[in-house]
Amino acid sequence: MTTAPSALARRLLDGAGADHEAHVARYGALPGLRLDDLLAAVADSGLTGRGGGGFPAATKVRAVAQGARRPVVVGNGIEGEPLSSKDAVLLNRNPHLVLDGLEVLARALHAKRAILAVGPEIEPGPVTDAARRRPVHLVALAGGFVAGQETALVNGLNGQAPLPRDPFTRVTESGVDDRPTLVLNVETLAQIALVARYGATWFRSAGLPDDPGTSLFTISGSVSRPGVIEAERGARLSDALAPARPVRPAAVLVGGYHGAWVPASDLGARLTRAELAPYSASVGTGILHVLDTETCPLDLSADVMDYLARQSARQCGPCLNGLPRMASDLHRLAVGVRDPDLPNELERMAALVTGRGACAHPDGSARFVASTLRVFRGHVAAHLEGRCPSARSTRARSVAS
Ligand code: SF4
Repeated sequence: MTTAPSALARRLLDGAGADHEAHVARYGALPGLRLDDLLAAVADSGLTGRGGGGFPAATKVRAVAQGARRPVVVGNGIEGEPLSSKDAVLLNRNPHLVLDGLEVLARALHAKRAILAVGPEIEPGPVTDAARRRPVHLVALAGGFVAGQETALVNGLNGQAPLPRDPFTRVTESGVDDRPTLVLNVETLAQIALVARYGATWFRSAGLPDDPGTSLFTISGSVSRPGVIEAERGARLSDALAPARPVRPAAVLVGGYHGAWVPASDLGARLTRAELAPYSASVGTGILHVLDTETCPLDLSADVMDYLARQSARQCGPCLNGLPRMASDLHRLAVGVRDPDLPNELERMAALVTGRGACAHPDGSARFVASTLRVFRGHVAAHLEGRCPSARSTRARSVAS
């Protein structure tokens, strides 16, 4: 029988800042691994990407290793999601572990260059000091919600606008300087540094057999102690949230602005693909945002949708037309416009934009809207009657009166 993982673990956050000697004393020297050995360890560990996509890390490394030219290895520290701060905290507390991941991969792949790309939300101090002593180029780029998307990041590093490009050219084949490019989130790199040191069996001593290891989670919203925690994969949502002390939770947004809501009645669900699937949610970048019973979920969702519509690169039809339309309809619903067609129209638009963009921005935005309508069905019905069940909301009541 599988032992249920406990919520807390501290593999990643007990770093020594920019002090390399203290870092080596804490974690041990970084081994130099041949590509075959590193690939075997990462594959056996079952490590998946911690940047949102959740793909097996070994698959990406293998794809780049098969390229015709020496590759470029890129650490993705562009944390474009406003609700996430786990990458910033990791780079601040444990920059050398991220740099270890870059270095061990760059050596094994005989990479032409290793780059750590960071956005404006990353504190320059510790990571700048740490990178100065390592064979890594630190590159600061502009931020934005879609700027951390893999192809947008590669465009930014190639001196172009940091916008997603066509999905048919894989960066693992042609990325930075037209070279095969391995882009991994900074947390994934830190995990690879641990796997390289301690092996796959140790990595699997935390988490679930089919979803091993730990992850960083950013907890925000209606909590007494917001911040970043490290929890074992497969922890219950309630256990992961406990250190932050939720206050009157009504629902939790799992996975950020491209994520989905889990109602407070279901906080016993585990943070796994299977148990989050009924809510169309996934762990993604580890964002857990708590909504309290006094805040109107339609108000909040309309503001999120506004943000998402503004963040699109405005290159494709779904973003140009569909996202602003969904934001506008959600606002009308939030302020209490009594148009019974609004929920159907929102669902229709969400289905229409899905799968039609050059990147996943419309899909993620549509998923968020569909989840809002589904989880807050009672709220939607109340707003259509001109009232709002949330204690602090005045919008729907004032429009109705
Ligand atoms: S789908 Fe939207 S965000 Fe993605 S490339 Fe097209 S316009 Fe840009």
